[in-house]
Amino acid sequence: MPKHIFVTGGVVSSLGKGLTAASVALLLERRGYRVRLQKLDPYLNVDPGTMSPYQHGEVYVTVDGAETDLDLGHYERFTGVPCTRASNYTTGRIYSSVIRREREGGYLGRTVQVIPHITDEIKQALRAFDNEDVDIVITEIGGTVGDIESLPFLEAIRQFRQEIGRNNGLFMHITLVPYIRAAKEMKTKPSQQSVGVLRSIGIFPDMLICRCEQHMSNEHKDKLALFCNVDRKLVIEEKDVDHSIYEVPLELARQELDVYCLEMLNLHVNRIKIRDWETMVETLLHPKGGEIEIAVVGKYISLQDSYKSIYEALTHGGIANDVKVNIRMIESEDIEIKGPAALLSGVQGILVPGGFGDRGIEGKIAAIKYARENKIPFFGICLGMQCAVMEFARNVCGLTDANSQEFAPAAAHQVIHLMEEQKTVADKGGTMRLGAYPCVLKKDTHAAKVYGVREISERHRHRFEFNNAYREQMQAAGMCISGVSPDEKLVEIVEITDHPWFTACQFHPEFQSTPLQAHPLFKAFVAAAKKK
Ligand code: GLN
Repeated sequence: MPKHIFVTGGVVSSLGKGLTAASVALLLERRGYRVRLQKLDPYLNVDPGTMSPYQHGEVYVTVDGAETDLDLGHYERFTGVPCTRASNYTTGRIYSSVIRREREGGYLGRTVQVIPHITDEIKQALRAFDNEDVDIVITEIGGTVGDIESLPFLEAIRQFRQEIGRNNGLFMHITLVPYIRAAKEMKTKPSQQSVGVLRSIGIFPDMLICRCEQHMSNEHKDKLALFCNVDRKLVIEEKDVDHSIYEVPLELARQELDVYCLEMLNLHVNRIKIRDWETMVETLLHPKGGEIEIAVVGKYISLQDSYKSIYEALTHGGIANDVKVNIRMIESEDIEIKGPAALLSGVQGILVPGGFGDRGIEGKIAAIKYARENKIPFFGICLGMQCAVMEFARNVCGLTDANSQEFAPAAAHQVIHLMEEQKTVADKGGTMRLGAYPCVLKKDTHAAKVYGVREISERHRHRFEFNNAYREQMQAAGMCISGVSPDEKLVEIVEITDHPWFTACQFHPEFQSTPLQAHPLFKAFVAAAKKK
């Protein structure tokens, strides 16, 4: 049976619980343990797939096609193990399986209640990795302690730890130690109170991770240890990092957080092997190749989390090329007002990410036209590829009303249209073409060169596709179809040969990029931008 670490958060949200959990996982992995990460989210959507990025940030897609919380992106980028459907449960998902079972007669004769039925279902989720070769499962509870919504999750982890015993599970509480500028003082009271709330529901945290802006004094740590009943050495400081989230694990390792976790779980403390990560952080913080600027033209730009994996993957491309990548975030609607040159001039690369709905589409198309005509490296992803196809159809093939069925169902030239398999789909949740599918690369294309192999597997999240009726016409005009599904029916990658770097894909490569191994397309895109 695996050992468990439960991660809760106190005082406020946005403490970076996901990053901390991912960092702990990395350190334990680097001490030779097989780790899995999991997130429990206390909202009623069955998954975040139907939520706007403004509500929730990016929707992260796993290999097995689950639409999940963006923290899973951190989990995968920090550790070597892919997440699956078992890595993210929401209240909605837990309730829907209990209610389904009730309708099937699974509880005949009984009253179905939050305790024990919902909590039992949550405990079942905690056992999702029992049959795999796993040493430690780290489970992050979304939300903040004290929220009504998270109570069943907290009760479930309380029971679970009671059942598995003290040496097999530990509670890690991440909390805020704010600095009050006017008083020039750090305050431990909010943390004491949030631990108080946890204790009132029967959870006694074993360690505290204190998020803070400034270093904590010994006095603050003593105080927290005393008032929160936590060993002094288990009051760990997690100060804001100066430059990159990838520094977090190194900071935590310096304080031996991983060692304490292993000791408390009665696991042997093997030597840590983390040299490659340190080298990567060193390259990231002090690149030798200077700086470049890449524009990301999207629709949810004002929220930093909307394109999380894209921004991270660009950073990875920078690490691989020894350059610092600065990102110019551009709202595509602004391009509609001010024109592309006003907002895009001076950048070395332009990326148009995925998205839904017609707001800002014309701005994206204008940005792509600007990149194509001015020979600026261009990278289109999902909707970004669909827009690139529309732009090419309109401005190179002369199909002036070319559009996507998603935005203009009456357009004469629907160069992007609904996939056949989607035509009978009515439900919105979890019904897109989701998860990893194979793609075959055409010999001697840019894509084949970049990947260095002929068959790849990439993650998808879309309903619309390149309309095959236009394949010949587009190819004749200079658009190369360099990647297709194995049955050749679905266009997965297009590129323009007569351009320094113009590649667009139907899938989401950003989900498979890590700081230690940048995704080949991101690496090549940043290299092209650097060259420019
Ligand atoms: N809206 C487009 C589709 O459904 C693109 C989706 C995306 O960018 N993820 O096909």
